[in-house]
Amino acid sequence: MAASKPTTTGKNPSRVKSARGETRAVEDYLEQIYNLIEQKGYARVVDIAENLGLAQASVTNMIQRLDGEGYIIYEKYRGLTLTESGRKVGEAITRRHQLLTRLLRHFSLNEDTIYEDVEGMEHHISRPTLEVISALCEELDASPDLLKRLKKRIKEHSKG
Ligand code: MN
Repeated sequence: MAASKPTTTGKNPSRVKSARGETRAVEDYLEQIYNLIEQKGYARVVDIAENLGLAQASVTNMIQRLDGEGYIIYEKYRGLTLTESGRKVGEAITRRHQLLTRLLRHFSLNEDTIYEDVEGMEHHISRPTLEVISALCEELDASPDLLKRLKKRIKEHSKG
């Protein structure tokens, strides 16, 4: 699991290895594909391109790479399906995305800020930390007083 340490200095961020060992770009694609299939039943290149803010040509290149690496099966006129390993990655990143979003939404932050931060964090969070955040969310939901105290403290901090 912890075979290779992620390196962050002087590297193209999309090539930096995540906590799970895939690159960030691979995880972002599989996350989008997983979500599109969950929501619409299929994932088209045009939708992936739109969701990731990329040109269709670069998406097609990456799709072929993901096919070559065994994450998806891509047939030009029949569309795209996730393999078992692709589905696992897409689901894991989606779960991280949802949990981190849930945590941050407790604190009335700007939605764009939440999205940007979550998109970064979802790649680098380990399973043990994920469990901590999950427990935190449960406590915050169950204890309005705790949330109130935290918000008050955050307000004090932002003033200083
Ligand atoms: Mn995400």
